[in-house]
Amino acid sequence: MIKANQKESEPYSLEGKKALITGASRGIGEQIALTLADHGAEVVVNYNTSHDKASETATTVELEGENSWIYPADISDHEEVKQMKEHLKENFGEIDILVNNAGINRDKFFAKMKKEDWDKVISVNLDGVFNCTKTFLDDIRESEQGRIINISSVVGQKGNIGQVNYASSKAGIIGFTKALAQELVRDDVTVNAVAPGFIATEMVKNIPEKVQKNIKSQIPMNRFGEPEEVAEVVAFLASAKSSYMTGTVIEVNGGYYL
Ligand code: NAD
Repeated sequence: MIKANQKESEPYSLEGKKALITGASRGIGEQIALTLADHGAEVVVNYNTSHDKASETATTVELEGENSWIYPADISDHEEVKQMKEHLKENFGEIDILVNNAGINRDKFFAKMKKEDWDKVISVNLDGVFNCTKTFLDDIRESEQGRIINISSVVGQKGNIGQVNYASSKAGIIGFTKALAQELVRDDVTVNAVAPGFIATEMVKNIPEKVQKNIKSQIPMNRFGEPEEVAEVVAFLASAKSSYMTGTVIEVNGGYYL
């Protein structure tokens, strides 16, 4: 239902909403922060170590006229996430929208993958989603329009050589999304996932050029996606206009996996 303060013609208005985006100092997360602010949300830019980059994101948001806050927390550390919540409660307020975006990869053939490579990826990509969602659940449940949006990956749907750890974490996010969506219907909270294909960020730019060329040749649109093309989908899911969608996985992959 369109809320009274939202004009029908206004696409994805997030006026009056507060959003936390994990791993928002660069790449897709940075763009999600900028796009949600562009649609009227106040945003928290969570980051792990890149203070200067996170400040730049927050400054851009403020120049656009929206309030923003930056906070460092390693999302794989539950205690740090709890401290972030306490800090935000006092200084920023309670959040309505959680975007679980932060993620890492440690690619190796499985035969060469060390236990540390497995543990590290699972702890950031999957435990991190648990830690943030668990910690901010009360805020989101109390919101009039609570939203949880998880960034999965086409690799979680289709698998990929050298990414057993990453694929498992991203497939886990899809299961997490579908199960939690059903639990939170009674609280009017929607839980959805976005599964990007290959998007032009540091994560993809670090792939050797020859491999990049080979990947592009398998994408019907013959190019990598742009962070904006993921961020607009997140803005839609965050808005009132996605009110009848929960437990879905929206693919943004140029036709790479259908
Ligand atoms: P990126 O490496 O450019 O950015 C990842 C962000 O997460 C960085 O800001 C990093 O500082 C942050 N981060 C990493 N570990 C963290 C931690 N422990 N605590 C807090 N923040 C942490 O990657 P990206 O391409 O922008 O990817 C963003 C998300 O999208 C990831 O979950 C990734 O798996 C997913 N994704 C990316 C692509 C792609 O092609 N780029 C495709 C599918 C899914």
